[in-house]
Amino acid sequence: MTLPLPHPALAAADPELAGLVADEELLQAATLRMIPSENYVSGAVLEACGTVLQNKYSEGYPGRRYYEGQQIIDRVERLAVDRAKAVFGVEHANVQPYSGSPANLAVYLAFAEPGDTVMGMSLPMGGHLTHGWGVSATGTWFRGVQYGVRRDTGLIDFDEVRELALKERPKIIFCGGTALPRTIDFAAFAEIAREAGALLVADVAHIAGLIAGGAHPSPVPHADVISTTTHKTLRGPRGAMLMSRAEHAKALDRAVFPGLQGGPHNQTTAAIAVALHEAAQPSFRDYAHAVVANARALAEALLAQGFELVSGGTDNHLILMDLTGRDVPGKVAAKALDRAGIVVNYNTVPYDPRKPFDPSGIRIGTPSLTSRGLGTEHMATVAGWIDRGVSAARSGDEAALTAVRAEVAELMSAYPAPGLTV
Ligand SMILES: *Cc1c(COP(=O)(O)O)cnc(C)c1O
Repeated sequence: MTLPLPHPALAAADPELAGLVADEELLQAATLRMIPSENYVSGAVLEACGTVLQNKYSEGYPGRRYYEGQQIIDRVERLAVDRAKAVFGVEHANVQPYSGSPANLAVYLAFAEPGDTVMGMSLPMGGHLTHGWGVSATGTWFRGVQYGVRRDTGLIDFDEVRELALKERPKIIFCGGTALPRTIDFAAFAEIAREAGALLVADVAHIAGLIAGGAHPSPVPHADVISTTTHKTLRGPRGAMLMSRAEHAKALDRAVFPGLQGGPHNQTTAAIAVALHEAAQPSFRDYAHAVVANARALAEALLAQGFELVSGGTDNHLILMDLTGRDVPGKVAAKALDRAGIVVNYNTVPYDPRKPFDPSGIRIGTPSLTSRGLGTEHMATVAGWIDRGVSAARSGDEAALTAVRAEVAELMSAYPAPGLTV
């Protein structure tokens, strides 16, 4: 069989780079990709990323640009903005942030002064760097105070959040994170933010697709600002959006441009528009619910294998596994699973006694495998592979990892990935 040549101009001009792209495509096709912040975008989203829109400079906003020739670009950006407003039910959307971290930085620029107190979930408990963690610019230019989860339940302790907020009086409170397997109670956060006189930012980067598909409650009635990436469960290009009620539109827009950025990445804006069009279809609701159903089924199957899961399971797309009981460090397990064709990341667990670069857990998720069409009926098989992989990591049984890798590749060959030609 001869494979179609997906990038003929690239292959002719730069065979070395084209070869790397082809190899990455093969890797993405043959493996079980379980990093919960990753996905497979559609062929349509991929194509939009590679368009001539990339050639255009368009600093400013539609109708208010600093460069001429915006007849088409303005329409592209308006389309993306209108679709974001419709999908999420918001009054204002800015689709220009280059990625999730700059989007969050724009929020600080819009609503706080350097030195102000901000509050977020601590990174090792599942928060994000940009929620005021020390090594991030947000934790050095602002005074970050951090909440966590309870040791006994693995859940956010709202009494602790309230106490901390009333004591520290932060300007901004962030909710959301990168390793939170449970539903975020936006209403509870909003009540605390109101009491403390803080702006509530819901950073829904991980769960935006679940929200769009109705598989997680929406922060819209509760949060002052919503920040999200577009490339995780939302299944769009690498990018971000800021959304709010109309009252915050001006501050957010000014912070993104000219506060923080120059020209928007118009090819990304176009691909965001495509992804939002896809997210508005009934099939995306099915996708979002299938992501959660798969994660729940996988959590059940892992518990049945004797694994320990932070908070005891999941409500969303993500599972945080504590491998302490298996006597395997997270990094050793992650690297072994990678050799077994199961791509995950090592992760701290709450109150982790180990170091962040060598933590106790791994973080897994179902967005990518659901995009390939795997269903709840496959999750016992997946849990079995993970169990064998983790056991082989402990015993150093490379042959077992090789065997799992072959089984993974065989199953995945029956479930072609969106956007891939192999
Ligand atoms: C992924 C993520 C970000 C950052 O997005 P980047 O595009 O990687 O900069 C911010 N906040 C949360 C909660 C995230 O999960």
